[in-house]
Amino acid sequence: MTLQPLGLDPSLCFIAGRWQATARGEMLALSDPSTGEALCEIARGQAEDIDRAVAAAQMALDGEWGRSTAVERGRVLARLGQLVLEHTEALAALEASDVGKPLKQARADVIALARYMEFYAGAADKVHGSTIPYMDGFTVYTLRQPHGVTGHIVPWNYPMQIIGRSVGAALAMGNAAVLKPAEEACLTALAFAELARQAGLPDGALNVVPGLGAEAGAALTAHPGVHHISFTGSVGVGRLVQQSAGHNVVPVTLELGGKSPQLVFEDADIDAALPFLVNAGIQNAGQTCSAASRILAQRGVYDQVVRRMAGRYRDLQVGPALQDLDVGPLISARQKGIVEEYLAQGDDLEVAGAATLPDDLPENGAYVQPTLFAGAAPDHRLAQEEVFGPVQVVIPFDDEAEALSIANGTAYGLVASVWTREGARQMRLAKALRAGQVFLNNYGAGGGVELPFGGTGLSGHGREKGFEALYGFSTLKTVAAHHG
Ligand code: NAD
Repeated sequence: MTLQPLGLDPSLCFIAGRWQATARGEMLALSDPSTGEALCEIARGQAEDIDRAVAAAQMALDGEWGRSTAVERGRVLARLGQLVLEHTEALAALEASDVGKPLKQARADVIALARYMEFYAGAADKVHGSTIPYMDGFTVYTLRQPHGVTGHIVPWNYPMQIIGRSVGAALAMGNAAVLKPAEEACLTALAFAELARQAGLPDGALNVVPGLGAEAGAALTAHPGVHHISFTGSVGVGRLVQQSAGHNVVPVTLELGGKSPQLVFEDADIDAALPFLVNAGIQNAGQTCSAASRILAQRGVYDQVVRRMAGRYRDLQVGPALQDLDVGPLISARQKGIVEEYLAQGDDLEVAGAATLPDDLPENGAYVQPTLFAGAAPDHRLAQEEVFGPVQVVIPFDDEAEALSIANGTAYGLVASVWTREGARQMRLAKALRAGQVFLNNYGAGGGVELPFGGTGLSGHGREKGFEALYGFSTLKTVAAHHG
């Protein structure tokens, strides 16, 4: 299969600016989650390939890329953003087939990828050091400098967005990146590399090695030539990545899972809240780290929230990604099995509403029934654990103190939202909620590439997105000059 219209061969990896076979020439099979049918074969990168990619990145740092100015880096990112936009439909179709997400959601991911390039293109030359007043006879200033070689490990749920936010910021600061995309979905990562080549990114500044997590991924995180690791994925693998980073004593950004709540108070504008309550649970079939999988509703509006959300669930249309409906399949049969096990955990809860799966769904597609559960106790498994499927629970609460205690009562802390008209309550809860992002009378704010993002607790640490990411992808040097 070629990645049209880019004419790529997905069985290759991208190292030192060239498409190359892996050292062992082994392959992995990719399938289309909408049908279960074979899609293509991708390279199964191993430690040898990671070695070559890290060496190529270091050569780029020692060469043209390392000498580039911030303005030049901004220009190449701007060209890359433009090329991404020009290939919107092709990239969206590729992502829809690979991840199973409805086309309009895949298209939104392409636009976000382009926006990351535009944002970091503009920001590249705006990261400044400072001068520090010091003793007589000294001039002291700080320099923001790249870490060096950055390793990027990306999951399958939003490949383009996650590549955009981490690789975009790393390149803007002058790092050279080695990217290991997920084995379940890596085609847009390869397309991105080709567009970067066409945009004129110097050889070795970006390298992409597909492969298994335990092979190429583990080799990348353990590599002594990598100076910073950005990992997005599960808590279990995040722990392993942090151990590797600890061994090599390099900084690591962990973007892990979540069990994010939306708090709906009795004075809320329920009409305005409703689309956000449901969409934040079913977008990308619920396979979103910031999915709002818990809806906390105050008793006075609880019945209304459950009834109206349930109505929306019953109307949801489920089908193949290219049919562009509300909900597509999950990424794989394996993920389907995990979500079905969670659905079985809801046996003791009220199923408030569920979508109907059409009879003519492809037999081997990874479809599950989007389901809304009501009346969950805060310590119920479905109210505590990340499902990573189109499943939400509604939990009742009496007052603000109880809402806060339930909201903060999981091991995660990624995103939260508060629906209320009362300004003082908005301010109190924005401070007290345990989350990296808090939204007041909205959820997600359209994804905003400008908005710093990251978690606390099991959701991880470090911040990506926005200007803040540029600090994470650089290191600060203090220069103290004694001139008498
Ligand atoms: P995963 O941890 O299994 O895989 C993520 C990536 O890590 C893949 O590229 C995989 O190949 C790689 N990997 C696996 N084992 C590895 C190892 N031993 N060493 C190095 N790399 C390894 O996660 P997943 O199932 O692909 O993704 C789902 C999880 O990701 C969910 O928990 C979700 O919440 C989380 N996620 C978080 C964010 C965020 O920004 N916070 C975004 C998307 C997904």
